[in-house]
Amino acid sequence: MAAPRSGQESVKAEPSAGSQGSSGVEVVLLSDPAAPAPLCPHELGPTLLFVKVSQGKEETRRFYACSACRDRKDCNFFQWEDEKLSGVRLAAREAYNQRCRPPLSRLQCVQRYLRFTELPLTQRKFCQSCQQLLLPDEWGEHREHQVVGDIAITQLRRPSQLLYPLENKKTNAQYLFADRTCHFLVGLLPALGFRRVLCVGTPRLHELIRLTASGDKKSNLKSLLLDIDFRYSQFYMEDGFCRYNMFNHHFFDGKPALEVCRAFLQEESGEGVIMVTDPPFGGLVEPLAITFKKLITLWKEGQGQDDSHQEMPIFWIFPYFFEARICQFFPSFSMLDYQVDYDNHALYKHGKTGRKQSPVRIFTNIPPNKIILPTEEGYRFCPLCQRYVSLENQHCEHCNSCTSKDGRKWKHCFLCKKCVKPSWIHCSICSRCTVADHSCEGPKDGCFICGELGHKRSSCSNIGTPKKARAVRNQKQRKRSKMKMETTKGQSMNHTSVTRKKKKRERAHQYLCS
Ligand code: SAH
Ligand code: ZN
Ligand code: ZN
Ligand code: ZN
Ligand code: ZN
Repeated sequence: MAAPRSGQESVKAEPSAGSQGSSGVEVVLLSDPAAPAPLCPHELGPTLLFVKVSQGKEETRRFYACSACRDRKDCNFFQWEDEKLSGVRLAAREAYNQRCRPPLSRLQCVQRYLRFTELPLTQRKFCQSCQQLLLPDEWGEHREHQVVGDIAITQLRRPSQLLYPLENKKTNAQYLFADRTCHFLVGLLPALGFRRVLCVGTPRLHELIRLTASGDKKSNLKSLLLDIDFRYSQFYMEDGFCRYNMFNHHFFDGKPALEVCRAFLQEESGEGVIMVTDPPFGGLVEPLAITFKKLITLWKEGQGQDDSHQEMPIFWIFPYFFEARICQFFPSFSMLDYQVDYDNHALYKHGKTGRKQSPVRIFTNIPPNKIILPTEEGYRFCPLCQRYVSLENQHCEHCNSCTSKDGRKWKHCFLCKKCVKPSWIHCSICSRCTVADHSCEGPKDGCFICGELGHKRSSCSNIGTPKKARAVRNQKQRKRSKMKMETTKGQSMNHTSVTRKKKKRERAHQYLCS
């Protein structure tokens, strides 16, 4: 499953979940970079190389930006690829980096955790302001803060309830699984025969697995959490948590942490392990796919020769509208109909009707007929599709499949020769089905040069075609192009104009709610 990578691969930055707009920034993935990427101020590992693109233009300039923080408010790292930094600027950056680092080392965290658990209940305090467990000699410094006392061992085992979920939209939005989903997963994984779960960005699943395992001697499910949120390092020993950036496969605590992960994946020659990941939806699919392939490689290295054709089982939790994109990188994946829902996400709640249904699904390389979805929640088995589907998802005899993606009953369009959302209409101008109140020349998420869907700028055959043919297209797209120029000007990749942001939001809203 190694990534077929040409020397240089360039992909347009994905719009945020549900949005059909496109941004003017592409990420460039070099298999053989001339120079190592600079490190990001927050030590999130190497930055990614991006390229600014303007529609209809071929000249580009490349720059490094933070891989994890797509919002420039959170990480203002920016450096042109060909830029030479002065000693003064390098020193300033280093000083800034120092300030951004977590206050405690991994080892310190482990030692503190051990000391903390030995304290009597009345001395176990947690500072909500600092999101930190306090030892008695630190109480003084936190006198003015929000401090809660009597932290029980059971609370220590559920850090996702003690810590507040990070709310930053693009970087670190933490959407914690609702109990319904978490219990479903914790029941499903051992039923599928798994004994170890690599939790990548799933802290609540990790803690529930450990909680279940400690309460039930029969369940010997083990779990290792990889997450960028260093607050979790206070609650786990080295073999339970590694601070990790899933956008660039970076272990913050270096080789020892990588070895923890390797040992976990390669235990029992890699038998019985599954990776479950729930990345932030604002993230780019491609860097994630490349990271997951690196984890797959790590797992494969521990396998015997005759197992080499096998794939590491994966659950990748992501919104359904990323299906094509994910399957592009992982052709063996299929999307389950199960609706993943969250505690702290108003839009993503499980529900029988209408708009409140979660768009988040599980993508997996496990055969879908093996994954039994709960009938008490209305899922049923379709013998023709050989998979469990939601109640409203009906088998279309023309498509020969249960076609709904969003949990509602879809209708077949004979002109489009496929099933579409129930509220969509077939527009004769666009000659396709779409939302009723659309503008017929509305933006399409296509190639920056020719505007066609289905390929990207880097592989556009129109590079070098007669200027006239392109001029016609360019004229058509001038409005959109103008918008894009705004977003690519200056140093920001995300300083979108307010109107564009608003438009994008509206489109996302329209898309989700149509
Ligand atoms: N539903 C999951 C949480 C998903 S929220 C659960 O309940 O367990 C996304 C998670 O990914 C958060 O825990 C967040 O800290 C983590 N995350 C965000 N950016 C990351 C990055 N670059 N690398 C690793 N983890 C990241
Ligand atoms: Zn079916
Ligand atoms: Zn159909
Ligand atoms: Zn149609
Ligand atoms: Zn139209």
